[in-house]
Amino acid sequence: MPEFPIDRAIALLEKEVASYQVPVVDLIAAQSRDPFQILVATILSARTRDEVTASACRRLFKEAATPEALASLSLARIEKLIQPVGFFRNKARFLAELPGALNRQFGGRIPDEVDDLITLPGVGRKTANLVRAVAFGKPAICVDTHVHRIMNIWGYVTTDTPLQTEMVLRAKLPSQYWLSINSILVAFGQGTCKPVRPHCDRCVLFSICPQTGVVPRKLPKNISNNEQQRKKQETTMKLVSWNVNGLRAALDKGFLDAFHELDADVFALQEIKALPDQLPDKVVHIEGYASYWYPAQKKGYSGTAVYTRRQPLQVLYGLDLPEFDREGRVLTLEYDDFYLVNIYFPNAQPELKRIDFRMEFNRAVMHFMDRLAEKKSVVACGDFNVAHKPNDLANPKANERNPGYSPQERSWMDEVTGAGYVDTFRKFNQEPGRYTWWSYRFNARGKNIGWRIDYFLVDPASEDRVKGAAIHDEILGSDHCPISLEFI
Ligand code: SF4
Repeated sequence: MPEFPIDRAIALLEKEVASYQVPVVDLIAAQSRDPFQILVATILSARTRDEVTASACRRLFKEAATPEALASLSLARIEKLIQPVGFFRNKARFLAELPGALNRQFGGRIPDEVDDLITLPGVGRKTANLVRAVAFGKPAICVDTHVHRIMNIWGYVTTDTPLQTEMVLRAKLPSQYWLSINSILVAFGQGTCKPVRPHCDRCVLFSICPQTGVVPRKLPKNISNNEQQRKKQETTMKLVSWNVNGLRAALDKGFLDAFHELDADVFALQEIKALPDQLPDKVVHIEGYASYWYPAQKKGYSGTAVYTRRQPLQVLYGLDLPEFDREGRVLTLEYDDFYLVNIYFPNAQPELKRIDFRMEFNRAVMHFMDRLAEKKSVVACGDFNVAHKPNDLANPKANERNPGYSPQERSWMDEVTGAGYVDTFRKFNQEPGRYTWWSYRFNARGKNIGWRIDYFLVDPASEDRVKGAAIHDEILGSDHCPISLEFI
């Protein structure tokens, strides 16, 4: 195979990305050449959407634009200022330690060597390279997932990890591109050569790109509006999630009617409270669907299941962590272009008795989703057992310390969305009063005194694939109602 024409590609991309959104770290650099601010922005930007990082930087730099000013802030104040960037607690701790480390090790200045930078709290190799290149204009190649991925698509490198890519690029990429390659490919990777279904149909590199391992997005060509509509319906999948609070009980309350009425391609259930052999055959085997079951070891408790029209490539039972897996809480179906992760999050229990277990579970799930998202799109659904914002429950003030709305649980949701996972219902609807769970007591459902605790989330790179999201609060049969997602 001929060598990929790197000079031509970069020349074309420099023109192409000039009109794209500038990656946040370059934006900060354009506003201030201050290495300290660039270092802080780079630490904050990891696993966080650019717009979230940009506003966190604005708030933080208003109070702490220098290491000395940062040293005067308490940890709690830093946390408050940078929230909701991904993993804001860890990052706040790193920032609180940063002025001391700079003083002790480097006389208060920001070092410009990668080996020095990586000794600072919260600074890995990628961050160090980026700071060296952006803040000091020194030769460094910052290889993040976009650079690693796109270089492999081009066949310019054939590597398994970003570190290997960095080493190969150091040997072969002409040095004039070292400083700019990261910002060019981050912008290009976010705007056109996306991790999932890249937009090859409008790509300036289409004629020279070998598209190694790529499945491009498909566009209908020269077809009428009706045909377009039909095609859209054919390719859009409908996914439903429902905590049935006991499938045997739900059966008596019209589960099968609701199932057929919703007419979903994938139907994910939580809290089934039953083994498949305790259920009638008409429920276990519904015509047109394959079904997968993951009951808890304890009878009549927890458990998840998925019905699917599309054949999955594989099914993953649990997280490989026995303390959670014995409760049958996570059931994952891998399809050719996405993972469906069906989750039943533990309840923190009155007086938050089970909050530690719950938070451990949250962290394990997040780690699991992140690992899957490195490979393809992730759709995570289920009963998350937490209302995220005040407009997600009827009585936020009265429930501030209660399970399902405790500060710890809400902070975790901040971390998830701060890391870029998209709460798909809120993408389309900001109304209060849209709930998915109501207590059986005090006619709460009749009075709509409820909570929105069931979600469809998608990973940051897959937001474009979300075409609709809904809450089906007209459907009875459980104390939760079904929710749905339209996904292409
Ligand atoms: S043709 Fe497709 S795969 Fe190749 S660089 Fe362009 S968007 Fe990426």
